[in-house]
Amino acid sequence: MTAPKSKGIIAGGGLVGLTLALALHRVGIKVRVFETVKEIKPLGVGINLLPHAIQNLAKLGLLEDIAKTAIRTSSLAYYTEDGKTIWREPRGLEAGYDVPQFSIHRGDFHMILRDHVIDRLGPENLVTGHHLSAFDQDEMGITAHFTDHETGAPAASITADFLVGADGINSSLRRIFYPDEGPPKYSGQMLWRGVTEMEPFLDGRSMFMAGHNDLKLVAYPIRADSAARGKSYINWIAERRIPSDLATRQADWNEAGMLDEFRPWFKSWDLGWLDIDRLFTSARSIHKFPMVDRDPLPKWSFSRATLMGDAAHAMYPNGSNGVSQGVLDALTFAEIMAEADDVETALQDYEAARREVTAKIILANRQTGPEQVMQMVKDQCPGTCGEQHSCIPQTVLEEVATAYKKLAGFDRKSLQAKS
Ligand SMILES: Cc1cc2nc3c(=O)[nH]c(=O)nc-3n(C[C@H](O)[C@H](O)[C@H](O)COP(=O)(O)OP(=O)(O)OC[C@H]3O[C@@H](n4cnc5c(N)ncnc54)[C@H](O)[C@@H]3O)c2cc1C
Repeated sequence: MTAPKSKGIIAGGGLVGLTLALALHRVGIKVRVFETVKEIKPLGVGINLLPHAIQNLAKLGLLEDIAKTAIRTSSLAYYTEDGKTIWREPRGLEAGYDVPQFSIHRGDFHMILRDHVIDRLGPENLVTGHHLSAFDQDEMGITAHFTDHETGAPAASITADFLVGADGINSSLRRIFYPDEGPPKYSGQMLWRGVTEMEPFLDGRSMFMAGHNDLKLVAYPIRADSAARGKSYINWIAERRIPSDLATRQADWNEAGMLDEFRPWFKSWDLGWLDIDRLFTSARSIHKFPMVDRDPLPKWSFSRATLMGDAAHAMYPNGSNGVSQGVLDALTFAEIMAEADDVETALQDYEAARREVTAKIILANRQTGPEQVMQMVKDQCPGTCGEQHSCIPQTVLEEVATAYKKLAGFDRKSLQAKS
C-alpha cells in the first residue's frame, strides 16, 4: 500500500473542496484541486459559519480575513408573523463560546478560500475547467479522468493515492457510486433568496426567522463593509410551501425569482422593526431555489475514493449547518490522513467519524431542525400570548435548541473541551 502522505486529488473547488485543500496542506499532504468551472467566481448569497466551523477555520489561519469581511452574529431569534418573540438566544462570543459565529456572503468566503489555496499551494494546484467524469483504482493508486468543461473532450487523467469528491449536491463521484439515485429530493418548500442593502434591523448583527412551516422569512446581515457605512447588507430568504407539482425539479442556483411569486403572501406581516415589503422590492438580486436534500448514504468510502460536503450529505438549510458540516469533514479527513499508515483505512476512519452524525442531521433537518419551535407555536398558541409567546414552556424551547446544538456538534461545553 502506498504511503498516504504522498498525494491526493480533490474534485470540486467549492467551499468544502478548497477548505480540504488548505487542511491537507496544513498537515503536509500534497493535493491538487480540479474544478469544473473555468473561473471561480463569487456566486450565491448568505451562509452561516457556526462556532464549530470557525474553531476549525481558525486552525487554517482564516479567521482574520473572515472577520474583516463578515458580520459577527450576536443572536438568533424566532418570531411569529406579528413580531411576537418565540425564542431568542445569544450566539458566538455573546453566548460564551471561545470563537465567534459569522454570517458571510458565500462568494466572499469562496474568494478568501481561493486566494489562500493559490498562495499556499500554488496556482498550478487549483486546476479549473476540469470535470471529473470517471476513475479507476487498484492497490497501487487511483486515476481520476477529467473532461473539458466546455467541450466534453478528455482533458487529463491524474493518478494519486486518494480521490475526494467534494463536487456538490449533483456530485459526479456520488453518481458513479450510486448510479440509480436520481435527482435531489424536493421538500415541498420553495425558497426565494435575495440581498438588499438598507438600514440595519435590531442590533445590526442578529439573525431572525419568522413564521411557520408554510410561510417563513429568514434574514441576517452578511457584510462588514456595509455595516461600516451604517447600513446592513441583508441576506434574506422567503420560504413558501409549494407541494408536489415541483417534486422533480433540479436545484439550480442561478434561476431568477419573481417578486409576485412570494411578495403577496407577506403583505399582512408586521414585525414592527423591519419594512418587509421594502426588503423584497429593493433587492439587488432574487433567486429561486427549491429546498432539496439527499437521503443519507450507507457508504461514502470505496477503497481510495470518498465523498465530502454536499456530495456526501446535502441537507436542508434549517439549522444553518450545510457548510459548517463540510468544514468539519475537511478538518477531520486531514487530521486522520496525517496520522494514518494506510489510505484505505484512513478513508474508512474518516467515514466512521462523519457519516452517521451527518445522516442524523439530514433527518433532523427534515423535521425543520431547531426551527420546529415556530410550528409548535403555530399549532398550539391559543392567541392570548403577549409580546413574548408563553404558550410553549421555556424548558421545552430550551430543550429543542440544546438538542440540535449537541446533534450538530456545536454545544458550548463540547466545543470548549475540544479547544
Ligand atoms: C453556484 C453556487 C451558489 C451557491 N449559493 C449558495 C447560497 O447562496 N447559500 C447557501 O447556503 N448555499 C449556497 N450554495 C451551496 C453551498 O455552497 C454548499 O451547500 C456548501 O458550501 C457545501 O459546499 P460544497 O463544497 O460541498 O459544495 P459546493 O459549494 O456546491 O461546491 C461544489 C463544487 O464542485 C464543482 N463541481 C461539480 N461537479 C464537478 C465535477 N464533476 N468535477 C469537478 N468539479 C465539480 C462545482 O462547480 C462547485 O464549485 C451554492 C452552491 C453553488 C455551487
